[in-house]
Amino acid sequence: MKTDIQIAQENESKDIQPITKVAAKLGLESADLELYGNYKAKINPAVVEKSKKQSMGKLILVTAMNPTPAGEGKSTVMIGLADALQQLQQKTVVAMREPSLGPVMGIKGGAAGGGYAQVVPMEDINLHFTGDMHALTAAINTLSALIDNHIQHGNQLQLDPRRITWKRALDVNDRALRNVVIGLGGPTSGVVREDHFQITVASEMMAVLCLAQNRSDLKQKIGQILIGYTYDQEPVFVKDLHAEGALTLLLKDAIKPNLVQTLEHTPVIMHGGPFANIAHGCNSIIATNLALHLGDLALTEAGFGADLGAEKFLDIVSPKLDKKPDAAVIVATIRSLKYNGGLSLDEIQKPNLTALKAGFANLKRHILNMKQYGLPVLVAINRFSNDTDDEVKLLQQLCQELGAAAYPVTVHQDGGQGALELAQAIVDLPKAAAYQRLYDDNESISAKITHVAHDIYGAQQVVFSTAALRQLKSIEQHGWDKMPICIAKTQYSFSDDPHQLGAPTDFDLHVQSIVPNLGAGFLVVLTGNVLTMPGLPTKPAALNMDINDQDQITGLF
Ligand code: ADP
Repeated sequence: MKTDIQIAQENESKDIQPITKVAAKLGLESADLELYGNYKAKINPAVVEKSKKQSMGKLILVTAMNPTPAGEGKSTVMIGLADALQQLQQKTVVAMREPSLGPVMGIKGGAAGGGYAQVVPMEDINLHFTGDMHALTAAINTLSALIDNHIQHGNQLQLDPRRITWKRALDVNDRALRNVVIGLGGPTSGVVREDHFQITVASEMMAVLCLAQNRSDLKQKIGQILIGYTYDQEPVFVKDLHAEGALTLLLKDAIKPNLVQTLEHTPVIMHGGPFANIAHGCNSIIATNLALHLGDLALTEAGFGADLGAEKFLDIVSPKLDKKPDAAVIVATIRSLKYNGGLSLDEIQKPNLTALKAGFANLKRHILNMKQYGLPVLVAINRFSNDTDDEVKLLQQLCQELGAAAYPVTVHQDGGQGALELAQAIVDLPKAAAYQRLYDDNESISAKITHVAHDIYGAQQVVFSTAALRQLKSIEQHGWDKMPICIAKTQYSFSDDPHQLGAPTDFDLHVQSIVPNLGAGFLVVLTGNVLTMPGLPTKPAALNMDINDQDQITGLF
């Protein structure tokens, strides 16, 4: 089989449509777009406002079971499913996240789908796209520079350099920058202090962009960002520095959603890209609302397994959307079931019904979890070439016993043609589900964490570190406790230990710290050993990448 980049580049040279033509399917004209070349465009904010008058279609959340390190094909399935819905004459719009260069250059590859279910122009999307990640990185680091400059020039706000919570960022997996000392070099080079880098997609600035309804809301949210504390331990916000105007200015284009297309020309609104393990994992609210108003069916993806992205989509994002979700599609693979059933990455290539049955415990918990939110659940079995018919049949039967229909999909090989049955099931769904949230924001912080830990992860109890308990108390004293929680946790397990696969029950969830993200409007709860600046693997994907004089790219998956 050809690689993702081969398929994408072949298509891009023959069949890609001008983006104005894709926009026309949504009733958008040239004046509604800002073109970035022929195949990418930003959609003008006026369209976002105007679209609110249009009625809304169904909202389908695409999520997954716990993945193997290679990913289970959530984006691939969502894109192929959208193409299948389009083949069924449904006006379908995808809302999805923009890739981060960290995983592209690291281990996992891009985030524009795969095989014949991709979003194009794939290489642009996976590299610099329309510059949103760079704009975010600039805004994050400008804020850091303004903080250090304030301290250098008299520190009128009395910011304690030891209590600055705002961190610098880069969209690179660079573990050497996790903990740094800045300001070395004497009095003209700043005040010496410890600082930290996060990956851009883990920064609160990304969450703020994704949760903002429009530019003025973005500015207001940026102003609310907590940057640190004074020597008297009083909180200091971006608005105290009067920096929210400049930071909103830096994001003036990044807040506009991007329009691209699938290989079958289905419109895709790609905007914002927080990771789901260390951040909230969903594309922007602006993109999902726009997809809802412009199409009859909006598909959106939440990152990693349903314990991470989907929980955050349903508890943090959904209440802020113009419409609540109507169904969840859980992507499962035979290989991940066997991996969760205890087989090694080498062994999962071979047929093994026993391991599949054991690993089903993982998928089962995700199905039951999504039902807790009142959503109808459909399972998409993303078929790989070495899956046997017996394995697929067994999985369908196990899902059926839980009341969830499971549909094999072959979109990676066949494009939209490979998901017609699942697409028809989505068309046949009733329009409004009985969606309900898991917890109430007015509950205590520990009650909210316990809800997610028990009801979604299956944990016995929540154990707080001394630091977390101190932070919890401080958050309550400041009155910041009535916000949703955003748990940062490994994507490989329901627990905070990446090695506990399947559906563990006999474990505690270890809360290491709680960080108020007052601009985004949630409390980040860090568990286990999760890090907000990833590192590169032993053999980074970057080392296989190349481009020749004919613009042929290799190694970009
Ligand atoms: P996720 O969104 O779950 O992280 P992706 O959709 O990005 O996963 O897919 C991860 C990788 O797996 C991509 O390189 C994609 O081409 C590949 N892939 C997905 N589905 C299949 C499949 N059925 N057969 C072969 N490769 C696949």
